[in-house]
Amino acid sequence: MSIILETRDLSKQYKSQWALKYVDLRLQQGKIYGLIGKNGAGKTTLMRMIAGLGFPTGGSILLFGKENRGGLEEEGKRIGSLIEEPALVAGMSAKENLHLQCLMKGIPSYEVENELLELVGLQDTGKKKVKNFSLGMRQRLGIASALIGNPELLMLDEPINGLDPVGVIEIRDLIKKLSTYENKTILISSHNLPELYQVATDFIIIHEGEIREILSHEELDERCKSYIALEAVDGNQLAAVLEEKLHTQNFQVMPDKSVKLFDCLDERERVGRILYENGVIVTKMAVCGTSLEEYFMSVIGGSQDA
Ligand code: ADP
Repeated sequence: MSIILETRDLSKQYKSQWALKYVDLRLQQGKIYGLIGKNGAGKTTLMRMIAGLGFPTGGSILLFGKENRGGLEEEGKRIGSLIEEPALVAGMSAKENLHLQCLMKGIPSYEVENELLELVGLQDTGKKKVKNFSLGMRQRLGIASALIGNPELLMLDEPINGLDPVGVIEIRDLIKKLSTYENKTILISSHNLPELYQVATDFIIIHEGEIREILSHEELDERCKSYIALEAVDGNQLAAVLEEKLHTQNFQVMPDKSVKLFDCLDERERVGRILYENGVIVTKMAVCGTSLEEYFMSVIGGSQDA
């Protein structure tokens, strides 16, 4: 899979404040990256730097294999972004807005406008003015506008912020559609990991301007999965009985000899009985797991209400 964006030591300082600190990132084509961080973590700054809306104070950006020396104008056209509020004219219809944006980007084509309206599900809004649109419809129109010029990389900054549940689902479906059918690479930011979980294939956790972790959906699932925490007087015996009598190897023995059993979550009674019948003296048995929010907080180092 080809790398379409790479940053090396990308940094941005406002006086003494670091908004971004030595960010190394590699985005692969076709993936949906969830950029997750609390307010003020540096998400918008990162997207602004990539979109060319601000200048880094250090490091470099490689777009589509070319380094950011002297502007990256051509490569920049291969990026579409919706950063902060979409720039829409409230007194115009969806189509008129797109027409205006097309003109501004030098792509005057009615065909493009119709295609984009269809893609974001606004083809039936006719003469309805944007000021009468729901927030979700406005966001979708903002995404349509970011898609003018058929960019390969689409960056969406907090696109679901403030949306009602229907609006959230519409944006989610649209993002999946853009990835699946249009093969776009998408970088989408949010402060809400459970929301991003629904749509992203990979996650980038950012905190205080630094990338704390990059992990795939599968890796996140692995780290958040539920298990039965078991402790026994004899840890070796516990592990042996699980394997030989419960016939499972789906467990992990921890350094303190306690065990995380990933099987039989709904059969705890049977687990307890088999251990008892085989002479294991169990001192702890509890269902544990890490929620997405807890995991996020553990990575950035803090409590949930921090
Ligand atoms: P996020 O999008 O994750 O909420 P931002 O990228 O907007 O975070 O901000 C990262 C940090 O940089 C914050 O501490 C913010 O106050 C600071 N910052 C952003 N833009 C400016 C600016 N124009 N001047 C000074 N500080 C800024």
